[in-house]
Amino acid sequence: MSNKILIVDDAAFMRMMIKDILEKNDYEVVGEAENGQEAVDQYKELNPDLVTLDITMPEKDGIDALKEIISHDGEAKVVMCSAMGQQAMVIDAIQAGAKDFIVKPFQAERVLEAIGKALS
Ligand SMILES: [Mg+2]
Repeated sequence: MSNKILIVDDAAFMRMMIKDILEKNDYEVVGEAENGQEAVDQYKELNPDLVTLDITMPEKDGIDALKEIISHDGEAKVVMCSAMGQQAMVIDAIQAGAKDFIVKPFQAERVLEAIGKALS
């Protein structure tokens, strides 16, 4: 059975890129969210195996969404998606329970490595 992934990013283009990488590698994308609140709501509804979570988003950012997801499910597997220059926020996220992070612009190999490791 393929792993179920929830993709979270406020940019549709970024979601599309990740979705494409994942679907070509036998992952099942079960949901997409474009802000932190949607991410938390969809996590609770879909119970995905893993979430890719953008840091900078309107409404609720990725760090706050991460904390809510982890408090709902201590076993949640979350890989953060960051831009250059967000090291401090990435460290916050790892301390809050994120498994790993990927940096934009994404490279398929690195995305698959981070997700594969987080799921193993
Ligand atoms: Mg963003």
